[in-house]
Amino acid sequence: MASCQASPRLNASKPDNAMKSTSFPQNPYYSRTDTTRLDLPDEVWKKVLSSDLYAVARHGETERAFTGKYWNYEGIGTYYCAACGNALFRSDAKFASTCGWPSFFETVRPGSVTYREDTSYGMIRTEVLCGRCDAHLGHLFDDGPPPTGKRFCMNSISLDFEPDRK
Ligand code: FE
Repeated sequence: MASCQASPRLNASKPDNAMKSTSFPQNPYYSRTDTTRLDLPDEVWKKVLSSDLYAVARHGETERAFTGKYWNYEGIGTYYCAACGNALFRSDAKFASTCGWPSFFETVRPGSVTYREDTSYGMIRTEVLCGRCDAHLGHLFDDGPPPTGKRFCMNSISLDFEPDRK
């Protein structure tokens, strides 16, 4: 029946559409398969990211605690960088944290993220950046659960969740 068929117009032009972000389809740099490092000027990011994501990802803003979409989310799947599609965390490394931001004890692979010392606000913290596009993701703390003892404290808006296929 016609009602059960996908529209050819929706699928014909972009065969890899399933690998693109659903949140920011206007971002041509987003890819979950291309791991080439991105080094784009600020003006480009400003054009391809939503204003809220741009503020966090490119200028280190922090969303308010308990306001993001993933802080208490328990879906099974993978979290990607919302700016570029780089795989960052698996849901089985996520733990219930009382801090109000989505928290993980390890990344999906060592090169998923990079680190930088952040001395803003009179504190010495470890900033966590996307390993592919250098987007600001959040901070790393040493008060996480076993086995790593680490807490990757992330902004929900910097993450893009894809559930596992059943
Ligand atoms: Fe990224």
